[in-house]
Amino acid sequence: MTTIAFIGLGAMGAGMAANLAKSQFSVQAFDLNPAALEAAVAAGCHAKASIAEAVAGAEIVVSMLPTGAHVKAVMAEIAQHATKGTLLVDSSTIAVEEARAIAAAALEAGFPFLDAPVSGGTGGANAGTLTFMVGGEADAFAKAQPALNAMGKNIIHAGAVGAGQAAKICNNMILGITMIATCEAFVLAEKLGLDAQKFYDIASTSSGQSWSMTTYCPVPGPVPTSPANRDYAAGFATALMLKDLKLAAQAASTAAANTPLGAAAAQLFALHASQGHGSEDFSGIIKMLRGGH
Ligand code: NAD
Repeated sequence: MTTIAFIGLGAMGAGMAANLAKSQFSVQAFDLNPAALEAAVAAGCHAKASIAEAVAGAEIVVSMLPTGAHVKAVMAEIAQHATKGTLLVDSSTIAVEEARAIAAAALEAGFPFLDAPVSGGTGGANAGTLTFMVGGEADAFAKAQPALNAMGKNIIHAGAVGAGQAAKICNNMILGITMIATCEAFVLAEKLGLDAQKFYDIASTSSGQSWSMTTYCPVPGPVPTSPANRDYAAGFATALMLKDLKLAAQAASTAAANTPLGAAAAQLFALHASQGHGSEDFSGIIKMLRGGH
């Protein structure tokens, strides 16, 4: 049985580690939060008291941490304690340049590294249906594949190291922009006297269709499972969307790419978050665009 160390058992990591344990892996789990560790044990993982203990005897380490600073610190600690050659797979969403720098340091220390951010949210993490976008060497990707298959449905090797993070922020830049576009259209439709359900029936089967409309529809009613039906409880929090749009802006600046709508979306979500809505679902930005808060 392959042993996997899992570091970071939060909203996403909890479900991912549980799915590894449910599959053919022995999971040695670590989180700074004792409650998260307890939940992991209930889901079939083995709780470890430190990163050093978690990586002992592990062939693969998976991390799911908040930011690049966390990943950098955790990877440095792993490099001190893990056996050389252990495969490091980071699924956190971090900057492309940070991922490349962390990968270079890991490789230098004798550890193959994959950046493997995900799409699909906590629902996908719990159900094992995440999309993984992976950057790194082909042999490392092949070695990680059985573990990624246990946590996800679509596993795509995007290219060299950093390519996974590049795909993630480009995808989420589309998501942020289309959500605002969808909200603006619903508000305009409302003000023009159009019924929201009628507008949905038309736009969702016309060229205005998008994931923002058909899965996370920002008005209650047309898509009963969308966060709008539960007063915009996340879902995908505004603060996380803002984080990804900032990473996209940073990458665009480094790569000299023109992303004016991405920049505008970042400004609008920053304003929405600054008005106390950071933990609400990002589709709640419709309230600000309507002028209602
Ligand atoms: P989270 O804050 O719920 O979980 C992070 C966990 O890491 C926490 O339990 C924390 O205690 C732990 N942690 C922090 N530092 C640690 C350390 N040094 N050692 C061990 N554990 C440590 O965050 P999340 O929502 O699970 O997101 C994780 C990553 O996934 C982020 O980069 C986020 O942008 C990305 N992401 C999140 C979602 C989502 O819907 N939540 C979707 C896709 C991607």
